[in-house]
Amino acid sequence: MTRVLKFGGSSVATGELLKRVAALAREALPHAPLVVLSATGKTTDALLAAARAAERGDAVGARELALGIRARHAALARELFGDDVPAELALALDGELSALEKRLDGVAMLGELSARSRDAIASTGELLSTRLFAALVAREELAGEWFDVRRVLRTDASFGSAEPNEARIRELCAAELAPRVRPGRVVVTQGFVGATEHGVTTTLGRGGSDWSAALLGAALDADEVQIWTDVEGVYTADPRIVPEARPIPELSFAEAAELAAFGAKVLHPATIQPATLRRIPVTVRHTAKPGGRFTTIRAEAASGRPLAALASRSPVTLLTVTSTRMLDQAGFLARLFAVFGRFGASIDLVATAEVSVSLTIEADAPLVELCAELEPFARIDVVPDRAIVAVVGERLKRTRGSAARVLAAAGDCHVELISMGASEINLSLVVAREDEHALVRRLHALLESARA
Ligand code: ADP
Ligand code: ASP
Ligand code: MG
Repeated sequence: MTRVLKFGGSSVATGELLKRVAALAREALPHAPLVVLSATGKTTDALLAAARAAERGDAVGARELALGIRARHAALARELFGDDVPAELALALDGELSALEKRLDGVAMLGELSARSRDAIASTGELLSTRLFAALVAREELAGEWFDVRRVLRTDASFGSAEPNEARIRELCAAELAPRVRPGRVVVTQGFVGATEHGVTTTLGRGGSDWSAALLGAALDADEVQIWTDVEGVYTADPRIVPEARPIPELSFAEAAELAAFGAKVLHPATIQPATLRRIPVTVRHTAKPGGRFTTIRAEAASGRPLAALASRSPVTLLTVTSTRMLDQAGFLARLFAVFGRFGASIDLVATAEVSVSLTIEADAPLVELCAELEPFARIDVVPDRAIVAVVGERLKRTRGSAARVLAAAGDCHVELISMGASEINLSLVVAREDEHALVRRLHALLESARA
């Protein structure tokens, strides 16, 4: 039995925080802790910016960003170890950073950045943070080791958003990782990073460390997956938009998955699934307030409320496809969706009428190409800069009048699309982006009044 403790970028951003993480790992020793770390602070952003600079041929800009990353990690090492930085750590950090610099030089020289190179560059952050933390664990005289997650986290070769192979991960974890996680030891490994069957480095997409934690927890049959972050759990709304939002003590997997998918950044959208399948509870906790409130997400739990929480996502593009000739013909929707599928544009919400279909897609979907394909058989209206605001609650659909109350609370926010029913527990509204925060605040007030 093991317990997975995942710490996000903001939880490992300073020496002080890294020491807290070590203290939490120490407390978890009886549970055979597997510590999964993100890159420190904004390191992944800096790495990707360096990759882009190199791609533009700006070798100097890329080097400067890499030097910044080097300096930040050297400063963290000094903060943790003073003048006594362990030689092995200095060597390991230098190895990763030198490889990074060489990669950036190569990209700048060719002026070409493959998705594969971008992943090799992006993965550096997690390799660095885990090296630092493993050295701290050793300095604190905790037994343990640094483990390269690429030995077990098998994915396909879709660089940038690699698809994990859960069956292989389970096999590899049983062989390589399970024998290492034992009570009394701290095993330290990377979030976000994976590798193909041929050992080529991949990444799971931005925010992917949560997913890594759930995948590893599922593969090891962990007793709990703890997501340690900078808030006290999953809140009733994004606390940056609604300051009075509060943590929800219990959520069902379905509720948490809907919230994540519709923009609650606190969890990666895919996180919940590997844990759900094995009925492993996922808790979301505040690294700086370990004794504070937190959220437990379980298969069988539920908020028990018709309106539990809100999430929002923007920008999205609203498309309305109108075709008087085609819509009543069998297979029209299949043809329509096939076009989006071909361009890899994923559709979030759909509403259909007699002669038209409205749907939302990511703002960065290839609109010009999509429209060129669709225009021969339909008229396309494109409305950019929209937001999806989702109300989530386990009893939403079964509670009479909940949709009416949500729409009434929207007041004069102009709602352009409504979607409810596909999932029992989610009612989503599309509004102009400038109305997003106002709508979230109004709906939060409704949620609070429903609770009172
Ligand atoms: P980490 O670096 O630990 O992975 P993230 O930045 O990915 O952390 O996620 C934590 C942030 O998610 C919080 O600081 C908060 O601003 C944001 N957030 C958005 N929606 C919610 C919500 N419903 N509950 C809690 N936090 C949320
Ligand atoms: N470091 C990665 C990112 O910033 C993964 C993560 O933090 O979850 O996206
Ligand atoms: Mg995150």
